[in-house]
Amino acid sequence: MNVVYLDNNATTRVAPEVFESMVPFFTDKYGNASSMHTFGGQVGKSIQEAREKVAALLGAQPEEIVFTSCGTESDSTAVMSALQSQPEKKHIVTTRVEHSALISLGQHLEHKGYEVTYLGVDSKGRLDLDELSEAMRKDTAIVSIMYANNETGTVFPIEKIAEMVKERGILFHTDAVQAVGKLPIDLSRAPVDFLALSGHKLHAPKGIGVLYVRKGTRFLPFLRGGHQERGRRAGTENAPYIVGLGTACELAMNHMAEENTRVPALRDKLEKGLLAAIPDAIVNGDQEHRLPNTSNIAFQSVEGEAILLLLDQYGICASSGSACTSGSLEPSHVLRAMGVPFTYAHGSIRFSLSRYTTEEEIDFVLDKMPPIIRRLREISPFRSVK
Ligand code: PLP
Repeated sequence: MNVVYLDNNATTRVAPEVFESMVPFFTDKYGNASSMHTFGGQVGKSIQEAREKVAALLGAQPEEIVFTSCGTESDSTAVMSALQSQPEKKHIVTTRVEHSALISLGQHLEHKGYEVTYLGVDSKGRLDLDELSEAMRKDTAIVSIMYANNETGTVFPIEKIAEMVKERGILFHTDAVQAVGKLPIDLSRAPVDFLALSGHKLHAPKGIGVLYVRKGTRFLPFLRGGHQERGRRAGTENAPYIVGLGTACELAMNHMAEENTRVPALRDKLEKGLLAAIPDAIVNGDQEHRLPNTSNIAFQSVEGEAILLLLDQYGICASSGSACTSGSLEPSHVLRAMGVPFTYAHGSIRFSLSRYTTEEEIDFVLDKMPPIIRRLREISPFRSVK
């Protein structure tokens, strides 16, 4: 059975070009980049080239790029650096719709005596910037707001937000894990202090990430040890993965214009087709400011998990907006923050496309999905609930 992979916000396929560029660093070029010999030095040179490619995609300087193990590490490092470098400040501002990389960190910090303000969103998942303005205080150490939401694809106005935060002299971090490689980003224009990205969301492998740290921003490392990454992240460099990420960033840059027309056209075909064929379905999130590859659709009176199981029988991979906690299916914290009605939130499915998605795959989903929803509605316990 062929796999129709529409779960690219969860993770992406490693691009063949990325894989190819990594192989020599497992076989021939296995030296330690920090060694004195030429053999290791060559690896260091390739790491530097990768750093330049990542920086180019972000409109950053190569020395502002710190390689990490994943997006979660980058997020934690940014927040912890801000707190430790300003020990007198005990307040953090973030949002209710962040990834668990920040929500869990925030909850942990609350237990440690910090105060965290979680900004709410409206029914389309948008922030109220006046609320952000009011939330910032003298003792705010950092504001951390995601660039784009992983579940709905809603994109926040990060340049404007960064300016507002910097006007108040506060550090600003953005979790751009879902945005990098999908949206043009120019950090030479946005006064962002920290930005997190993750390789496996843009066709590089799992286990490599980046923390961008603006030149001049006070920074304290999360991992201490060797002098790698100019003392900002200890641990022998993961050369194959760093090189792979460099290739992925170069590909993303070269493909961005084409992908930003082809991919949203396929996404819109899928979305319009499903809404036309299936009654009582709505799109979750801000359709005006949205990642080009993401569609989150709520089907009333059905369970998201049941839809996923039936899609799985055809090899179709997607995600639901629910999380199974202690036996009860809770709608996701993002959909709850948006106030999506219960009977819709439960039947929410996220489709996320990539450069490898084909029109045939979209047509296949358009063919399979309506009968699945019909079948589930016939047996749904919420059938009569409006
Ligand atoms: N932030 C966002 C918005 C994400 O979507 C994810 C992963 O899904 C992460 C952070 C965590 O990234 P990683 O899996 O590289 O730790």
